[in-house]
Amino acid sequence: MCDEANTPTLRACIDLPLRQDELLEVTAKAKDYAIMHGAAMRSKTNYSADALNFAPFVLVPSSFPRKEFEKAIALQPIINRLMHNVAHDEEFITTTLAETVKVDEFTADLFNIYKKVLANGFTQRTSLGMLRSDLMLESGCPELLPKHACDGEAMDEGKGVSTAATAGGGGDDEDEAKGSNVNTNLPKIYQNTVKTPTTAKAASKATSTATKKSGAAYCCWKQVEINTIASGFGHLGPASKTIQSFVLRELGHADKLKNMPKNDALSGLCDGMVKAWDIYGKKDAVILFIIEDISYNICDQRFHEFYIREQYPHIKVVRRTLTDVHKLGKLGQCKELLLDGIEVAVIYFRAGYEPGHYHSQAEWDARYLMECSLAIKCPSIQYHLAGTKKVQQALAQPAVLERFINDPEEIKAVGKIFTGLYSLDDNDAGNSTYEMALKTPERFVLKPQREGGGNNVYGLEIPEALKKMSRVERSAWILMDLIHPPLSKGYMVRPGGDMPPTVVDMVSELGIFGVIIGDADHIVHNYQAGHMLRTKLSTANEGGVAAGLGALDSPYLIDSDDEGEYN
Ligand code: ADP
Ligand code: MG
Repeated sequence: MCDEANTPTLRACIDLPLRQDELLEVTAKAKDYAIMHGAAMRSKTNYSADALNFAPFVLVPSSFPRKEFEKAIALQPIINRLMHNVAHDEEFITTTLAETVKVDEFTADLFNIYKKVLANGFTQRTSLGMLRSDLMLESGCPELLPKHACDGEAMDEGKGVSTAATAGGGGDDEDEAKGSNVNTNLPKIYQNTVKTPTTAKAASKATSTATKKSGAAYCCWKQVEINTIASGFGHLGPASKTIQSFVLRELGHADKLKNMPKNDALSGLCDGMVKAWDIYGKKDAVILFIIEDISYNICDQRFHEFYIREQYPHIKVVRRTLTDVHKLGKLGQCKELLLDGIEVAVIYFRAGYEPGHYHSQAEWDARYLMECSLAIKCPSIQYHLAGTKKVQQALAQPAVLERFINDPEEIKAVGKIFTGLYSLDDNDAGNSTYEMALKTPERFVLKPQREGGGNNVYGLEIPEALKKMSRVERSAWILMDLIHPPLSKGYMVRPGGDMPPTVVDMVSELGIFGVIIGDADHIVHNYQAGHMLRTKLSTANEGGVAAGLGALDSPYLIDSDDEGEYN
């Protein structure tokens, strides 16, 4: 997917490649370590409920600019609040989805539940939001041009460097110190070398001025999507750090561990469920996980359950499918959800986000039953709808954020995370999006209202896909600018993969978790809750780990003004 010749490469956290014997030994150890620490999944090709494979992982952590990581963490409670406010804005959800529900049956089915619940009044006003905001670094960030700094501080004092961070070609592995072919416009976190007309001396001066002044502002990130349902990897995120810390120690780099940020995703998310359970306030009521018929990503789910059982042994967790709920569930006198007579306090959906999870009307009836109940849902139907791609596209339009956020600084900060998102509704704006997509499809990704990966259409395939649709059908989709993340080099380790693995070009996607609990009038809890990093081959369009394309990873934080951090 990347135009690799023009894409900068982030510096690796250790020197690569590793010696063959060392690589073989540490990879074999790391695979066992992964399985034995629950960084595992059930095989899709050779399924057995009694066996696990290690989940694909990247051997050493991938670099990520510290400043951008910290920005993402700091912004999460604001994004949480934004999504909470969107979820409680009936008019906004209804108008935004009006065209989509005419043609997208799945969104329409969810929307109908929402309308019915609205008509009857919400039995449970409190919602539990466990969100994950997914983002990628943008190496061609418009805000970097011509300054190379997202925050506008860097390289702006006429010190002689003015072209884009992505400018130039090349990407060989020559030593930066040689100077004459260093791309002075690339900050020091990058390791590729590109010919420029600047002299070595001037280059070195300009670069060091720039990096010192920028304080690591060299690349910005853009939101890929926001998940409001089944935001996975609360366990696998921290587990990735555990494996990679082990590997770094084995390789004699224990000193590097300090640059791997702490990750409390599992406890943060589970504590969110427990806080909701407390609000519900009945000591015998359980937490219900709604699961698929077969859970391939079993470790991630089970570790949530095990954490709750270990830390809060008085709270019981049960796992049921939508079909089970249809068979066993009914509402009690006060509309409490009863499963075979057991009262449910909190419902955590790890399924229900794609049409395939609803085999028949029975599963839809189960979803509706739960929405009508007194149980606190994660997500409630309005939160689920707030997480649609269509709503994300609407939020990225000018002036829309003002409806949900009061503070102008916060509006500015959130506004910056959106890349171009365009409506394909059946109107003038939608038609110009259509024309733009046909003219320059390589700039875009086309997305339907679906979750779980594998549904998008990329670049040159977009015109054919769009031409097959009627004008009305197009409104089920949105168009989005492609993000161009910088590359990193590393080893991807997969079950059944080559031994030893080879160094490959990769790109990463960071997910920041957030927990928010409240109703339309009050927010009672709102916090950031850890992170996860997924990495895929730079040539792949999508990188779902459960879908088999991505690999577990965790961030290694780097600063552009700290020479000591580099190879
Ligand atoms: P899903 O709900 O199916 O996860 P996403 O919007 O997250 O849908 O897209 C799936 C994957 O496609 C992402 O994880 C990312 O790898 C890739 N992707 C999505 N949007 C973009 C984009 N704008 N630029 C580059 N890659 C993207
Ligand atoms: Mg996604």
